[in-house]
Amino acid sequence: MLWRKAEGLREEPKQNRVMRQLYLQAPNDLRMREIEDPIPGPGEVIVEVRGATTCGTDLKTLLRGHPKFPMPTPFGHEFSGIISALGEGVTDWEVGAEVMSAPTAPCGECHLCRRGLYNLCPTCMDGLILGAFAQKVRVPAHIVKRNLYPKPRHLDFFEAALMEPLACAVYGQQCLPVLQGKSVAIVGAGPIGLFHQMLALNQRPSHLFMIGRREPRLELAREIGADDVIDSAVETDLVEAVMSRTAGVGADVVIECTGQPQVWVESVRATAPGGQTLLFGGCKSGTQVPLPFDLMWKRHLTVFGVFHFTPEAVAEAREHLCSGRLPVEQVITDVRPMTDYHEIFEDLKAGRAVKYGIDPWN
Ligand SMILES: [Zn+2]
Ligand SMILES: [Zn+2]
Repeated sequence: MLWRKAEGLREEPKQNRVMRQLYLQAPNDLRMREIEDPIPGPGEVIVEVRGATTCGTDLKTLLRGHPKFPMPTPFGHEFSGIISALGEGVTDWEVGAEVMSAPTAPCGECHLCRRGLYNLCPTCMDGLILGAFAQKVRVPAHIVKRNLYPKPRHLDFFEAALMEPLACAVYGQQCLPVLQGKSVAIVGAGPIGLFHQMLALNQRPSHLFMIGRREPRLELAREIGADDVIDSAVETDLVEAVMSRTAGVGADVVIECTGQPQVWVESVRATAPGGQTLLFGGCKSGTQVPLPFDLMWKRHLTVFGVFHFTPEAVAEAREHLCSGRLPVEQVITDVRPMTDYHEIFEDLKAGRAVKYGIDPWN
């Protein structure tokens, strides 16, 4: 897929201009507004957004709100672009630099950060970048310091915007044992499940199952190398579907990417003795899940969740993107102008697209 290549800044870097931004007034009430250009504070930079991508979290927030994002709120957090203004004291970056960024960064100083548990830093979500579906976005100082990276010119802006969701999947797989020679089942063929598939295939598992629903997602899973694609709308019993293909043993590693309580339980039940179940898709907060502890004990299973990502995972995700060795562009169904926002999110709600690239300048 070839996206339009952008050359240089759209506007002369001046302040007090007006820009377009998508924002959520309330659940299911997405609007576009014109506001003044953001102005960088000390240590901050302004990025002219050239590529933004939609995310499962955006869709969930749109449908039912999000405890972390009180409304009205600017919308979108996956982006890349070109620096258009520098705050006081920023000396490592220049106006005109092409950049890619994660929307969060840990403090680097608390007791969890000092133990290397950067993803659990209590202030990691503070100052989260929201408003990537806009012509310009302000990157806070702590993110400039830890999770803002130069974008190589050969890397497309929309692919560069995938650094954050890919970092989530990279971090999840860093927490798993080596997958080479093992059977791996991925449950949920959304963008995150597909990223897990790409990363897992890189490690040459003996067999990779993708369990999901809705074309074109399943078609894509097939195209990018799943050995077996199971349509959960047809084969509704996930455990049976995996067991019947593994001589009743289960998959050595199951990566759950749907965030559905029932699927969490089924994923554990579909895991082979001595295996690992990674509960990757977060359930709604407060959810109680009746896990089969008898099986977990008898089969010596390791069942665990992971949250967010570390700066190390961001760096690794960037390496993957820059190297071009993962077919990440495949998850972007199409690039559409931001003015199509209504249709874009209707399509995503209906599962007609995996992920969209959003061009805020159209
Ligand atoms: Zn995301
Ligand atoms: Zn910290």
